[in-house]
Amino acid sequence: MNDQVLEVRDLEYEYVTGKGRFRAIDHLSFSVREGEFVSIVGPSGSGKSTLLKTIAGLLRVTAGEIRVSGQVLTGQIPPQVAVVFQDYSRSLFPWMTVQENVEFPLKGKKFGRKEAAERSLESLVAVGLGDALKKYPWQLSGGMQQRVAIARAIAYRPTLLLMDEPFASVDAQTRADLEDLVLSIHQKYGTTILFITHDIDESIYLADRVLVLSQPPARLKADLKVDLPRPRHQIQTKQMPEFIRLRAEVSGMILQPGLAR
Ligand code: ADP
Ligand code: MG
Repeated sequence: MNDQVLEVRDLEYEYVTGKGRFRAIDHLSFSVREGEFVSIVGPSGSGKSTLLKTIAGLLRVTAGEIRVSGQVLTGQIPPQVAVVFQDYSRSLFPWMTVQENVEFPLKGKKFGRKEAAERSLESLVAVGLGDALKKYPWQLSGGMQQRVAIARAIAYRPTLLLMDEPFASVDAQTRADLEDLVLSIHQKYGTTILFITHDIDESIYLADRVLVLSQPPARLKADLKVDLPRPRHQIQTKQMPEFIRLRAEVSGMILQPGLAR
């Protein structure tokens, strides 16, 4: 049986600009198995968001193939994929309550009113927002708004959850809390997660595997197994020799003098 949720093969992506074509992704191949937590780390401008947008069906690939649950993407947005972006302030509707924001995408799917309400409530409780159902996004902190976006993404139990630097705009303490929240969701629902970040520690702390991207055009520099026990712990895990070894290995690939931006 094929348990690959995501298969990316020989992917190429070129932006067409006024000055010609710019190749952002070059012959990139990897796959993600069901239930796996894979992070992708690379310097700013290395093509991470471009890659995510091709997988989410927001950009059409120039060459190569992407399969989600075995189905080749052909320019459509795959229904079983959910995305959480960095910019939470623009991802929620300000005129809807927290609960309405989470229910909204469910109503367009196959869920009835009652089921949509139950699922949104369960997801909001899972992200620790059971008390904030009737609040509006602008009444919440940045970290809480990002929790709403996560609840919305998990409410319809996506086969694949894509996250693009979701915690890059929150403070360090909130970021650590949100990392642990995503780990608890991964454990609770067994969701397959592809997590994009430029933060090396975060990429290792969360994942079963870390994929390292090169400068553009993005190629795969490394595909590293993260052999660290779960549940992870913000302090203990980061003191383990395996964590320190991986951090040095990834840093060596990303922070080469002259290549870092
Ligand atoms: P990352 O998310 O890793 O920071 P991006 O995927 O956003 O990188 O961008 C990868 C490269 O593609 C960068 O060099 C960027 O300047 C370029 N790029 C991004 N979006 C566009 C666009 N709409 N048109 C042309 N070039 C773009
Ligand atoms: Mg980006």
